[in-house]
Amino acid sequence: MKNSSDVTELQSQVEKLQQETRKLLLEKRRLNALLIITRSLSGELDLENLLFKIMGQVQKALHAERCTVFLLDELKNELWSKVAIGIEDEIRFPADKGIAGYVLKSGEVVNIHDAYKDSRFNPEIDKKTGYRTRTILTLPLLNKQNEVFGVFQVLNKKEGIFTPADEKLLSAIAMIASSAIQNAQSYDEQKKSFFSFIETLSTTLDTRDYITAGHARRVTLYAQEIGRLMKLDPARMDVLRYAALLHDIGKIGVPEMILFKDRKLTNEEYEIVKRHAKITKNILKKINFNKRLKDVPEIAGSHHERLDGTGYPEQLKGEQILLEGKILALADTFDAITSRRQFLDRMDLEKVIQIIDSETGTSFEPYVVYNFKYITLDRLIQILEHGHASEINPEDLKKLIDYTLRELVEIRGKSGKSDDELEIENIFMRYYLRQYRTDR
Ligand code: FE
Repeated sequence: MKNSSDVTELQSQVEKLQQETRKLLLEKRRLNALLIITRSLSGELDLENLLFKIMGQVQKALHAERCTVFLLDELKNELWSKVAIGIEDEIRFPADKGIAGYVLKSGEVVNIHDAYKDSRFNPEIDKKTGYRTRTILTLPLLNKQNEVFGVFQVLNKKEGIFTPADEKLLSAIAMIASSAIQNAQSYDEQKKSFFSFIETLSTTLDTRDYITAGHARRVTLYAQEIGRLMKLDPARMDVLRYAALLHDIGKIGVPEMILFKDRKLTNEEYEIVKRHAKITKNILKKINFNKRLKDVPEIAGSHHERLDGTGYPEQLKGEQILLEGKILALADTFDAITSRRQFLDRMDLEKVIQIIDSETGTSFEPYVVYNFKYITLDRLIQILEHGHASEINPEDLKKLIDYTLRELVEIRGKSGKSDDELEIENIFMRYYLRQYRTDR
């Protein structure tokens, strides 16, 4: 028979073991959280997606109501973050404000048990979002040079206050998140500077050719509109945008005396003009597009191919032409026939539609034409009259928003129109025929 001191000893050992087990379980949960976060963040290069992923994971891992990643905008000296609440998609404030501002400056970890009792707390965001902050855990995000470039802020632990263990976990997450954020940021910067380079190239070309000024930009807008209606994924939308901006870049290889000739081109001259498509492809092949954009040269160079194989430069047929190339072909033709006579009335809308329809199935992919006709009239006017945005009445655009090109064609063809239909037709035609412009 054991005495009572042995029993007490045993009890205390059991308790110890239970405590250890709890600790181990907790540790396991935390390691699991880290593993999940590491996995979900790796390879995410889109900054916005990345930030939302981080915020969601941290909130879960720390049993908190909210997590925000604030990044420093050095130019404006502001902290900013993406938010998914309310109408605004971004919050910004001066970089020295609130707890976040304090952590940014000091590089300290700040764990607060009652926000409204802390003089550093900035209640403005609560006021804006209608939220009530209780507990806050804020941590600096450090770059490779050990400089603070942002802060992690976790709000309102679901039970109790943030513990030292929470701090430990959050700093481990912060290390993973920091490098992922920096990768995404530098990718974002590269993407932006590459795009502005492409855009400048496109504009340079557009200004050289005063007869078709704005052509590349309008073709890009039409193509993007069709792409959206066809629900292309973001990567294909990017390809489409680059290819559209640069589709006629090969025209730098066509002598000006032919390009700007105001009389009919001879057959020989026309053959020279036609070379531009091939030149476009060759020039673009020399640009180092990344894997995502690798089809840009092919697509841009195929904007004069026709579905039935009678186009140029390679007489591609049907499925040999990439979808984005088919979209460009329609966008290019539509702009050419609606903008040819710059300061005169445009070609009759009926004639335009008739040309498109008669070439559907031979030149154009029927499904692309089908989608194009669902472009809404407000967008159509904005693109047709691109560059004259300040002269377009926003109230008119609002009225056009609910009608598509398909519906407009129907309205124009029928007798006995309703008052609404008459109004829509009149508004559209006033802009289409450029009757609103003072420079006609
Ligand atoms: Fe062309």
